[in-house]
Amino acid sequence: IPKSRIAAEQKRFSRALEHAQNELTILFNKIACMDGAAEMTPFIELHKTLLQDAAMLQKIRDTIDEQQCNAEWAVKQRADAVSAQFLNIEDSYMRERGADVRHVMRRLLAAMKPRTGRQIEDGNAAGMIVVAADLDPAQVILLRRRGYAGFATESGGNASHTAILARSICMPAIVGAKGLLTTVQNGDDLILDMDNGAVILHPDAQTVAECKNVATSPLPTRKAKKLRGVKTEDGETIFLQVNMELPDEVNSAISMQADGIGLFRTEFLFLNRPKPPEEDEQFEIYRRVLQDMAPLPVVVRTLDLGADKINDDVMNDSNPLGMRAIRYCLAHPKLFLTQLRALLRAAAECRNLRILLPMLSHPAELEQSVALINNAREQLRAVRGISVASPPLGGMIEVPAAVFIMRDLAQHLDFFSIGTNDLTQYTLAADRSDERLARYYQHPHPAIIQLLAAIVDNAARTGKPVTICGEMAGNPEMMRLLLSLGLRRLSMSVPQITALRDMIPTLNCSRLAANRRKLLAAESPEKLLQQIQRLNAASPSKNTTTSKQ
Ligand code: PEP
Ligand code: MG
Repeated sequence: IPKSRIAAEQKRFSRALEHAQNELTILFNKIACMDGAAEMTPFIELHKTLLQDAAMLQKIRDTIDEQQCNAEWAVKQRADAVSAQFLNIEDSYMRERGADVRHVMRRLLAAMKPRTGRQIEDGNAAGMIVVAADLDPAQVILLRRRGYAGFATESGGNASHTAILARSICMPAIVGAKGLLTTVQNGDDLILDMDNGAVILHPDAQTVAECKNVATSPLPTRKAKKLRGVKTEDGETIFLQVNMELPDEVNSAISMQADGIGLFRTEFLFLNRPKPPEEDEQFEIYRRVLQDMAPLPVVVRTLDLGADKINDDVMNDSNPLGMRAIRYCLAHPKLFLTQLRALLRAAAECRNLRILLPMLSHPAELEQSVALINNAREQLRAVRGISVASPPLGGMIEVPAAVFIMRDLAQHLDFFSIGTNDLTQYTLAADRSDERLARYYQHPHPAIIQLLAAIVDNAARTGKPVTICGEMAGNPEMMRLLLSLGLRRLSMSVPQITALRDMIPTLNCSRLAANRRKLLAAESPEKLLQQIQRLNAASPSKNTTTSKQ
């Protein structure tokens, strides 16, 4: 940190210390009147004593002053040093007390937990890799803006928005790497090996040379022209679109000759700023993306803030089952109307806009959204004299309940889009951002496959097109499965397009469709996985690669 920030950092440390001490006092009082208090209170007492250890606290303060580092780093250094001393104690009871030091320090660190996206420091970031306990998407955006080369975190799942964003903006990232913070020290040489999903610590000269040799060919620059699709061996057309988070990603979509933008996650425009973007600012962004991509379709999803994407000045509900996406927008009509007006103004100038509503679970949400769209059209007519027709409207199918009300939803919708990231987390009750639940969060699960088949069938019955835009769509290993189920429109991160495009001409949709019944009959995730592996082996493709993050 700069010298000028030291006093503020000391103050931050004092506040966190006070907060942690108060927490322990409250905990102590709570436990004191519970059964088993006699066994538990001594541990809380010990933690309280540790947090009052004047010598240790002074060392942390000195570290902030002398090393010009933030309070977290000073606490971590102290925690590492003290726990190391405990490790050398012979008495096993005393040795175990090292864990108490770590717990207390963790409490202290939790009390300093940064507000969203606020703690990425300026400085010379070129070639630097950030190693952290966790990073949220807002912080990843800042890392990219500041020029960091990549990041590795101890927490986080492959389907978290942090991982998805990194993939989309081609930022090397390894998530869920346990033990990093205790192994890696500031200034260590690291390589993020994206081929093997590994962090290489202290690479030798030969490894460094090999990695430097890995070709990173720049994307060719081309202009988007027309909807092309890719033909399978038996002549079916598969459309490949791009998911994007930041407006400048549209250039990569054009370079990759994608069939349009299948998902523009607009909530990323709302992160890292104290106030939501005004109507004019949003309008300019949407118009630019639409114009750049024209005449190809751009599916703009309305604000899906919440869960692991929060701007804590706009909203701060990180519960994935909480106030999120359409629920939040309907509860804040002013914010929602601002976005709708900006979108409709862009639609008045560009005909390739499609609007997509996230996380629908009840027909009433859709009816209210349609009413608000009409409301926004009315406002534009009255205030700006702009008369605009409603652009095609789509709904995300990502909550299991939505699968069963698609006929009703279809009355107001022109298309559907499947969000397998959330569909998986809500069906299997496994938080997509929690690496501890990675083995529960799995797409090849009979429940997920049966829901996908039901969505395809329901969409066909209503005559509305359906796209799949969750991470599953970009995974080559899932491609044959998705085609077997009848999906033909896929939207994914830019880097995933090449492998799929190369693969499609080698696939035969009618032959794959013959496997549908067998796939749907699989009784367990294991049996389903075997079926998928058999399917992939039966029609191997030279270009199949495993996507790793
Ligand atoms: C999904 O849930 O699959 C999806 C595409 O939306 P997001 O990842 O932004 O929640
Ligand atoms: Mg989703």
